[in-house]
Amino acid sequence: MGTRSPDTGGPDGTGGPSPEAPVRARDGPSPAPGGGRPAVFLDRDGTLNLDVGYTWRWSDFVWLPGALDALRLLADRGLFTAIVTNQAGIARGLYRAEDVAALHGMMGRELAGLGLTAPPVYYCPHHPDFTGPCSCRKPAPGMLVRAAREHGLDLSRSFMVGDKRSDLDAGLAAGCTPILVRTGYGAASGPPPSGVLDAPDVLGAARLIADLAGVR
Ligand SMILES: [Mg+2]
Repeated sequence: MGTRSPDTGGPDGTGGPSPEAPVRARDGPSPAPGGGRPAVFLDRDGTLNLDVGYTWRWSDFVWLPGALDALRLLADRGLFTAIVTNQAGIARGLYRAEDVAALHGMMGRELAGLGLTAPPVYYCPHHPDFTGPCSCRKPAPGMLVRAAREHGLDLSRSFMVGDKRSDLDAGLAAGCTPILVRTGYGAASGPPPSGVLDAPDVLGAARLIADLAGVR
């Protein structure tokens, strides 16, 4: 892992090129002149699923209330969605990239069974204490920037939803609108930083985004 270029923690957990997930932008917002389409970046642990510490076993994976409805709402509104997640457990040797890929594969199968397309997953496998500095570990914006490049996204019209300050800062660094959710670590954090919106959970954030993006 440490020998990889810093921002290649892989979409879909493979570490390889992004398998192009079918885009669900049926009738979503049109691209800005010279720009791409807006996107919604979602943190994983504590935002979409229960944060149990290092979540890498499917048996530990529990969707948070509203998470599936949020994914459905964003899909119905034609908003491109991607998951961006720090997975330093790989750098720490607690689990392998293959385990993350397997987990995301199970997520994808479950979502498919519900008629939902799994968002592409970008993860950072690094930790500065083990693998040195990188440009992808949130609060750095590397995963968002890479997703924008790969999927033609306009970061200035995009949103970053997460439960930690590092999610908000990654969103701000990428030029996105950050939204703090009050699940996971967000449940116990104080008022959001100046200029940052908050929502009770990821479904609340999705509704807020649908309003702000004018796609309701
Ligand atoms: Mg989180």
